[in-house]
Parts: sequence; C-alpha cells; structure tokens
Amino acid sequence: MLYFIRIYTLLALLALFNTQSFGSEVNVYSARQEALIKPLLDEFTKKTNIKVNLVTGKGDALLTRLVNEGRNSPADVLLTVDAGRLHRAQESDVLQPIKDERINGLIPKNLRSIDNMWFGLSIRARVIMFASDRVNESELESYESLSDEKWKGRICIRSSSNIYNQSLVAGMIAQNGLEKTEAWLQKFTDNFARKPTGGDRDQIKSVAAGECDIAVSNSYYLGHMLNSSDLKQRAAAEQVTLFWPNQKDRGTHINISGAGVTKHSKNIENAKTLIAFLANDESQRWYADKNNEFPIRDNVEVSPTLDAWGPFIADQMNVSQLGKFNADAIKAMDRAGWK
Ligand code: FE
Repeated sequence: MLYFIRIYTLLALLALFNTQSFGSEVNVYSARQEALIKPLLDEFTKKTNIKVNLVTGKGDALLTRLVNEGRNSPADVLLTVDAGRLHRAQESDVLQPIKDERINGLIPKNLRSIDNMWFGLSIRARVIMFASDRVNESELESYESLSDEKWKGRICIRSSSNIYNQSLVAGMIAQNGLEKTEAWLQKFTDNFARKPTGGDRDQIKSVAAGECDIAVSNSYYLGHMLNSSDLKQRAAAEQVTLFWPNQKDRGTHINISGAGVTKHSKNIENAKTLIAFLANDESQRWYADKNNEFPIRDNVEVSPTLDAWGPFIADQMNVSQLGKFNADAIKAMDRAGWK
C-alpha cells in the first residue's frame, strides 16, 4: 500500500514539475524577422499558455550558434528560410526527426523533409519579372528558355552565393540532370546584363530602371514593393510584371520557410505544438499575408496582392531535393562563371 502511495506521489510530483518547469515554455531561434513572427508567437502563448522565448538572427549565424552550443543549446525550434538551409541544418546534425500525425496532416508531403527532420510553413515562388514595354509575355516560357540567345545582355539576377539561386539550380539538376543543367548554365550566365549584384529587390529595380529587361526574383519582393510606403519602390514595382515560369511542364520553382525541432530540445512536445500552430489555417493566412508568401494549403485564402497574380502551377517535387543537390548546384554555378 505504502509502495503505491509513494508511486502516486512521485507521479503527481512529476506531473507538476512537467507542467510548471518544463511544460511552460519553448525556445525559438528564428531567422525570420521579429515583426514577421512575434505577433503569431504572442497569439500562440495566449492560446496555449506556453511562453515563447525568441532569439532572432541571420539564418547561417543561427545555425553556427546551434552547432557551437551543442547539447547545451537552449533552442527547441529552428525557424528559417529555404529548404537548402534547412537541409544544411539537418546535415549539421542539429535537428531531430519528428513523427506527429497532427503536423503531417497539416503540412503537404512535398513541403516537408522526407525523413521528418523539418517542415514547410510557407511557400515562396521564384519567378520571372519583366518590363512589359520591352518584353512580350508570349516570349517567355520557362527557366530553361532563359538560355535562349534572344536574352543576351538582358537578364538581371543576384549572386550565386545566394541560397535562393542555389535552390533554383538544385531543382533544375533534380529535374533535368546535371549535364543538361551545366549546359544551360553556360548559356544562361552569358545572357546576364551585368555582374550579379544586390538582392532580389535590386533586380526588380534594375528592370524598372531599364538596366535589364527581365529579372529572376522571389515573388514576395514584388508584393512588398507594390505595398510599400516608399513611393519610389512602388513606382518601380508598377513597371514590372510577374510571369509564372514552366506552367506548361513541371510548374514554377517553389521553396519554403520552415521549422525543425532541435536535436537537444528539452521541450519537444511544446515545440511540436508550436509547429502545428504555425501550420493551422489562421496562422497560415496571417503568415502568408504579412510576408506576401503563399500558404502551404490551397484552402487558405490569399491577399488581394497575391490574388491579382492569379493561380499558378507549382513544381510538386519534394523540396528535400533542393538540399540534396545544393552542393552540385554550387559547383556547377561556379564552373559556369556565375559570380
Ligand atoms: Fe527573402
């Protein structure tokens, strides 16, 4: 009898300890800016009573920090952008596999790693933007067709050190093979209007300024510029038109922002609850709206800005492929002389 009482006391104490000490918080390392995530995290705390401790920083710096902290890291969740970067986190052994019915039910299979190491929370599309006074939409077709001679000296794109470009090329290697992609890269880089410089926004501005006729950029940058309080940015954005590449074949290249649970997390259940929360309809609407990205499921409504660009067919390939072929992509871009 005494033995049972002892066990029950112990269990009761454990339960108390669990909810009060461990169960009440989750520590997030986020490469998303505070403004793009904090209001959602506050909402999460309101609904669940789980306190969120947020550390924001650059994606690569946060990853280095996680690696250096090792088992002493306080982080439970790594939130970052690009499947290529999430793959790097996975390769650096800072994440752990999570099998959760709730999460898997909310996040489409192609948007999470094949081994359950990380999960997509928003979709970003890398598209072609063009100057409609100098380019006829019918001249455009696919990323592949940007190697055509007619584009010589007319394309603006940022550096090959940028992960968005690495993932675009990794996706092409996954779909078309390394040899074909290398041949494409040679011609594509020959068509650059200038040495790659600046971010995606700068490529859009260069099209507006007449420095080039088309640019490759993530779609949300155009969304930001169209809704900007800066009149100059808005004016530039209004001179540029978005084109969805590869609508007749594999679909437009998409990438994700996403999250993984850290290998040494001390609050795994809370971490899972947070990921599931970020994937629910309400969070999806807010998250996509705030950053002009696309929700991970079709049932979630999009903002008027995104709606105006019309529906598009997205590449259905699992985004894990973008990480898998990242190293090949970097080498191929380098060989092609893409600075
Ligand atoms: Fe970005």
